Amino acid sequence: MSNEQTLYNQLLALDGRGYKAYQDIKGSYQFQDFILIIDHVQSDPFASPSKIILKIPAFVAQFPPSLYQSPSRTLGLEDYLIRQFDQVARQISSHRGTGKSGLIAIVSVGQEILKRTAAFVREGNLEIRFFVGLPARGRTILGRQAAQMLCEDIPEIVDRALKYSALNPEALRKQVETVEDADWLRQELGKRGLVEFVANGSILPRRSGVDARPLETEAIPFQSPKSLEVSFNCPNRGLIEGMGIPQGITLIVGGGYHGKSTLLRALELGVYNHIPEDGREFVISEPTGVKIRAEDGRSIVGVNISPFINQLPQGRSTDNFSTTNASGSTSQAANIIEALEVGAKVLFIDEDTAATNFMIRDRRMQQLISKEKEPITPLIDKIRQLYTDYGVSTILVMGGSGDYFEVADTVITMNNFQPEEVTKQAKLIAQQHLNERLWEGGDTFGKITPRMPLSESIDPSRGHKAVKVKVRDVDEVGFGTEEIDLTAVEQIVETGQLRAIAAALIYAKNTYMKGQCTLSKILDKVMADIASEGLDCISEFPQGDLVFFRRFELAAALNRLRSLKVSL
Ligand code: ADP
Ligand code: MG
Repeated sequence: MSNEQTLYNQLLALDGRGYKAYQDIKGSYQFQDFILIIDHVQSDPFASPSKIILKIPAFVAQFPPSLYQSPSRTLGLEDYLIRQFDQVARQISSHRGTGKSGLIAIVSVGQEILKRTAAFVREGNLEIRFFVGLPARGRTILGRQAAQMLCEDIPEIVDRALKYSALNPEALRKQVETVEDADWLRQELGKRGLVEFVANGSILPRRSGVDARPLETEAIPFQSPKSLEVSFNCPNRGLIEGMGIPQGITLIVGGGYHGKSTLLRALELGVYNHIPEDGREFVISEPTGVKIRAEDGRSIVGVNISPFINQLPQGRSTDNFSTTNASGSTSQAANIIEALEVGAKVLFIDEDTAATNFMIRDRRMQQLISKEKEPITPLIDKIRQLYTDYGVSTILVMGGSGDYFEVADTVITMNNFQPEEVTKQAKLIAQQHLNERLWEGGDTFGKITPRMPLSESIDPSRGHKAVKVKVRDVDEVGFGTEEIDLTAVEQIVETGQLRAIAAALIYAKNTYMKGQCTLSKILDKVMADIASEGLDCISEFPQGDLVFFRRFELAAALNRLRSLKVSL
């Protein structure tokens, strides 16, 4: 292996040469404190930046074993290191020429703590993967600047971000303990018959629709109603109290602008862990909760939506339903069935993003439009069977109609951003003011039909290029010649999740979509591989920008692939 000095001299010697000459620096270099691996060199200053891997031995990094003694703690530490790296890299990386010249960057993160391929801690040894824009003016190598970046800036980042002695031990301890407590709470929920926990004192509102950090001033901390209050004894934090939402059907009501959607959004994201100071680090959800919304225009392939939709005009079948342009109600029905197909046990629905005709159908409308002329069986007539037949709970924000009072197990009202439990009042009102609706739900929810995706319908190639996947922000994957629109998949929070989902689609196709295998089985296998081998198993080469996703989001991407074909 060459050393630091060799790399330095080599970079100086490259000064003034054409950009392609950078390819020569690919390789491993022993620095004083670490090994630097130049894994991939970009082809020009505008191309995706070059990939660098750092390996820092435990005796240099010096993290106490208590920070990585459990998987939860390791995850907390890895996430912390990424954030530290990001912070220091932003301070010292500067623009040094054309295109991405001078960039030193690690995968971008938000408020969530997720497993990522940018940082690994194994028995105290660190592996950090990041990106560097090798500097040039036009296409001429700026060798001196490159030498500075790789041989001075990177060691500085290691000193300031990746060694225990440089970090705030209190903050670090809090981070790993928070992750461990949150993971523990998530496992406890089921044992108590709960689907949600919201700690007292949680801060739910965000700074803005585009800034997920907590609202700083004027945020009213969450306080559980007494009747729903539960407490846990966490491994690190000890006693924690807050609101527990039981399994079953929960209705969140209240006036407009009183914090209903904000609460639901926090619950939706409670499937993930959050950094301390987020305000939602102890908002904990059952891990299989899926947000459901209307999504008109999406494609649907071979889904049995007959529990909700029947007798379409022109006699179209709904037990094997496909469309390239779904309506609001049909898309919402498909979103539910697809989530059930792959194992969702909690559904989150907000009236703000639901199709009205999917949610309710009142007595007057039943009278004017008879059941035979309305293909849609509204959710209100199916929501109970969802729970009794399949054990699926629903948490529903519904401020605009009291029709759900009858079917709810728990009714929570948000009043000035504070929850109160009003189940009894709601039930009483339902008795006093009969809505006289006719039951339309039938005897059972209906069958959930498993589908088998056909491997040949998943094609990431484009022209002569074998695999072409491109990710734009958090809402779109370019997959071969297609664009998969994931705008409506609201539990995708980081761009790296999309990259990983795209990689996982290809992995699933190549590894498990052979013969007759249901989507759910395929997901079992892919997720099991990721759990045992790590996210690296889904990509051919080590990537630094893949982020953990759930089976539900992977299924969501596949379900929105317009070329998809399935057999039943
Ligand atoms: P709803 O769904 O009931 O109409 P939202 O959840 O959209 O209400 O909240 C309305 C506004 O109030 C949002 O701007 C939100 O950020 C803010 N908000 C929500 N909860 C709180 C809170 N606990 N403290 C302060 N502001 C809040
Ligand atoms: Mg709302």
